[in-house]
Amino acid sequence: ERMISSELQSDDTSIELSLRPSSLAQYIGQQKAKENLSIFIEAARLRNEALDHVLLYGPPGLGKTTMASIIANEMGVSFRTTSGPAIERAGDLAAILSSLETGDVLFIDEIHRLPRSVEEILYPAMEDFCLDIVIGSGPSARSVRLDLPPFTLIGATTRAGLLTAPLRDRFGVLSRLEYYTTDDLCQIVERTATIFEVTITKEASIEIARRSRGTPRIANRLLKRVRDISQVRGEDKISLETTRKALEMLQVDQSGLDHIDHKVLEAIMDAYQGGPVGLDTLASTIGEESQTIEDVYEPFLLQQGFIQRTPRGRMVTPKAYQHFNREVPNT
Ligand code: ADP
Repeated sequence: ERMISSELQSDDTSIELSLRPSSLAQYIGQQKAKENLSIFIEAARLRNEALDHVLLYGPPGLGKTTMASIIANEMGVSFRTTSGPAIERAGDLAAILSSLETGDVLFIDEIHRLPRSVEEILYPAMEDFCLDIVIGSGPSARSVRLDLPPFTLIGATTRAGLLTAPLRDRFGVLSRLEYYTTDDLCQIVERTATIFEVTITKEASIEIARRSRGTPRIANRLLKRVRDISQVRGEDKISLETTRKALEMLQVDQSGLDHIDHKVLEAIMDAYQGGPVGLDTLASTIGEESQTIEDVYEPFLLQQGFIQRTPRGRMVTPKAYQHFNREVPNT
């Protein structure tokens, strides 16, 4: 498992619940999404109605689940969670929906992975708060309509583009979460340190923030490992020096790149003079699947401007050469 993966890892689950902020006020960053949502929450509360359905989208680890649970808290309702791949049959979703109470939040993570037959149950549920159920089979089958209490569906997805139009159109509020700034991540590290009951110098939290790839989940994971090493070293306050040593041991560099990122960038620089090189060729050079490069390794490198996509393949940018203290070749 990569230290800097933004996906949830088994080691994270033990800490994540205790670190989850419970109100909008404690939720750091994402100013635009927070302002937007707080207006809708306020309005729904004033009208004493369920909040409109909300779609949260953005990369893993940015706080979609956290935001959904905060919305339920702020509305003063129960928070029920499930995920697209966990619901296999229409009946599973019908059972969940029919157990909801007025105003409840139902959170469906990875909603783009709901099977189509299940998704179709959601349309009337979201639009008219009802369930269409078929009873019996063959010629004697008939359809009955059951009423549901008004509820709020909060969907989360890393791939908004994969949502079908009829599903996307049924969300009244669309909110996109962005990568966090170093400042915001620094505050998150400090907050987490308080919950861990450790003290950390400002410079050390900035160092962790800078290497966390804009992602709170990664910041918290790095802090946890740095704390362990600091404790072993007998520090009473996590220092910059220890933080740097620890991150070096964990092979996370100053820009949050790890050995796999290095392998990708170095392959393009060394084997293809900086590119362009086709995705499949690059994949066989470094012995990885093209799909993995495209979905997992490449997005952060593209977002940070270390590589570029061109019609003829991937190219590294001058920033990549500078990162490795290499001269930018003249072409
Ligand atoms: P996602 O659902 O987008 O994958 P999560 O909501 O599970 O992300 O967030 C991952 C972890 O990061 C949470 O456990 C939480 O501790 C932390 N986190 C996320 N966003 C924030 C934030 N804005 N402020 C403080 N902590 C956050």
